[in-house]
Amino acid sequence: MTIRRLTQQFVEHFPERLEPGEIYLAMEFATAVHLCACGCGNKVITPFSPTDWQMSFDGESVSLKPSIGNWSFRCRSHYWLRSGRIVWAGDMSQEAVNAVRNRDLRAKVLHQAARAKGEDVGQSEWVDPQVEPKAATWLERLKSRLGL
Ligand SMILES: [Zn+2]
Repeated sequence: MTIRRLTQQFVEHFPERLEPGEIYLAMEFATAVHLCACGCGNKVITPFSPTDWQMSFDGESVSLKPSIGNWSFRCRSHYWLRSGRIVWAGDMSQEAVNAVRNRDLRAKVLHQAARAKGEDVGQSEWVDPQVEPKAATWLERLKSRLGL
């Protein structure tokens, strides 16, 4: 059963059994968990950090940025959580997934390096896959081949 909405549950500890359609947020651990919105039953863990997900709670519902791409699951679900609603995104090619992964990794490394130097770390730049073309462009392909 496809899930259309996630209702937030602020918890101290994640329960053993998660209910579909709920997103459990443990602020102490800066992490949320929910069952994949496609209904496959896989557990999706979304830690909050400048280089992971940014959570916002408007008093009624939760949003997560960037999108949630469950590439390691068989379903390869890809969706946004916007104001508690699941917004489905298209599947990404493996190449595009790798490109995003590399970019995430690079952002993380840069972030940690800056933090180690005691620099003020701003928000990392997220590339929204909806804005980004589905497949990596030839330029990105070239760049990744050259290891840039
Ligand atoms: Zn799924």
